[in-house]
Amino acid sequence: MPTKPKKTTPAGSEPHQHGGNRKPFTTLRDWLAHLASTGRLAVARPNVSLKHELAAIAKTLDGRQATLFPQPGGHPLAVVSGLVSAREWIAEAMGVEHADMLARFEHAAANPLPCAVVERAPVQEIVETSPDLLRDLPIPTHNEHDSGPYITAGLIIAKNPRTGRQNVAIVRLQVSAPRKLGALLLPRHTNHFFDMAEAKGDALHVAIVIGVDPLTLLASQAIAPLDQDELEIAGALQGRPLPVVRCKTSDMLVPAEAEIVVEGRILTKLREPEGPFGEFPQYYGDRADRHVIEIDAITRRKDALYHTIGGGGLEHLVLGGIPREATLLAHLKRSFPGVRDVHLSHGGVCRYHLFVKIAKRSEGEAKNIMMGAFAGHYDVKQVIVVDEDVDIHDPQQVEWAVATRFQADRDLLVVTESQGSRLDPSTRDGVGAKMGIDATRPLAAPEMKFKKIRVPGEEAVDLARDVDAGALAGWAKKLQG
Ligand code: MN
Repeated sequence: MPTKPKKTTPAGSEPHQHGGNRKPFTTLRDWLAHLASTGRLAVARPNVSLKHELAAIAKTLDGRQATLFPQPGGHPLAVVSGLVSAREWIAEAMGVEHADMLARFEHAAANPLPCAVVERAPVQEIVETSPDLLRDLPIPTHNEHDSGPYITAGLIIAKNPRTGRQNVAIVRLQVSAPRKLGALLLPRHTNHFFDMAEAKGDALHVAIVIGVDPLTLLASQAIAPLDQDELEIAGALQGRPLPVVRCKTSDMLVPAEAEIVVEGRILTKLREPEGPFGEFPQYYGDRADRHVIEIDAITRRKDALYHTIGGGGLEHLVLGGIPREATLLAHLKRSFPGVRDVHLSHGGVCRYHLFVKIAKRSEGEAKNIMMGAFAGHYDVKQVIVVDEDVDIHDPQQVEWAVATRFQADRDLLVVTESQGSRLDPSTRDGVGAKMGIDATRPLAAPEMKFKKIRVPGEEAVDLARDVDAGALAGWAKKLQG
C-alpha cells in the first residue's frame, strides 16, 4: 500500500519554549519572528505591484514560507501573507501536538475566557479620522477576475443591538470607493445583527481588524453559538484574557495588539454591486448587489503590518477547515463514541469531503455516522468512513481503503436533492446530492483477510545507521565494470 514519505521537522523548528512549557503565540509579530527563525519567512524585493504580482509571489510560496512584502506598490506599510498555511503550523501556534489540535480548539470553544479592557493600545498609535482606504492601506488585488482590491483578512466585529454581545467573522470586503467597502455577509451572525439594526432604521457599527495573531484568526472561524464572542475563544486559545481596547467612533472592543482597525458602519437601505471574487472552491463567487460599509476612521500601529489572505490559497482553506473539523468531531462523538478523528481533505477544499476514522463496533454504524456528518454542516458533501489502521491525513491511504474495503452496491449511501454549498458550481443554487462511502472492514471477516502487510522491524530502520554512504563510490565503480 502506498504511504506518504515521513515528514521531517524543518531544521531549527524547536517548539516555542518558555519556562520549559510550550506556550501559545499571542501576537502576530512573535509568530512572524518565530517563522523567520525557523526558515519559514521570505522577504520579497521592495515595490512589488499590489495588483496580482504580490498575490502571485505569495501563492508560489504558499504552504512553505510566509511572505513579507516591504513597500508594496511604493506604499510605506508592509504586507504579510501565508501566516498559517499548513495545519501543523496552527498546532505549533497553539503549543500542542498536531494530534491534539482539534481537542484543544474544541476545549477553548467550550471554555471561553472574557477579554481584558485596556486604555491604551498599540493599534491606536495612529488615528486617521479622514480615512481614505486606497491611500492609507496597501490593499492587494488577488485573482484574475476579482473586481479589484479586496480586504481578505479583516475580522469584522459587530455588536448584537439587543444584547450588546459581540461577534467576529471574516468576510470578503471589496474596496468600492476611497471610503466605501462592499461586503458579502453570509446568513449568519453579523448579518442577523444588521437585520435587527436595519429594522429599526439604524446603521450597524463594525470594526474591521487586520493583522492579528494566528489564534485570533483561527478563533474567528469557530462555529460558535449566537452571542458567543469569538474573541473570548481567542483568549482561551492564548491562555490569557485577550487585551481589547474601545474603538474611537463606537463602543466596540477590538484586539489591542492588532496592527490595523478600520472603523465604519453597514448602511441601511443600500445594496451595491460586489464581486466577482476568487473563493475557496477555486472558482469565482458571483457579482450581485450586497451590503455597503462606510468608513469613519482607521487606527493602526505606526509601522503597521497589513495581512492579506490569497483567495482560495492554503491559508484560506486551512483557517476555515480546522474549526469545522473540531466542531464536526465533537458533534459526531456525542452520538458515536467509536469516532476517533475526522479530516476535511485539501482536495475537498477543506469543506466538502470529510474522512472519518472509527473503531467500528457494529455493522451499519458507518452509515449512521455519514448521516450525522451531513447534518453537522451543510457544506459536507462526501463522507468516507475508514478503520483505525488508516491515516486519514494521507489521501493515498484513504483511497487504498476505498479500493480494498468498499463495494458500491452495499457500502454506498446517496441522498438526493439536499442542501449543499452555493459556492459548489455543480449544485443547482446550493441544492445537490450527498455521498457516503463505507470503507470499513466487515466485523465478521476472518482476521487475515483484511490484515495490512508489514515487514517486521520496518519502523525501527535508522538510515543514518543502516546505510553506508561511504561505500557508494566503490560500488558505483565496480558496477560500471
Ligand atoms: Mn459568531
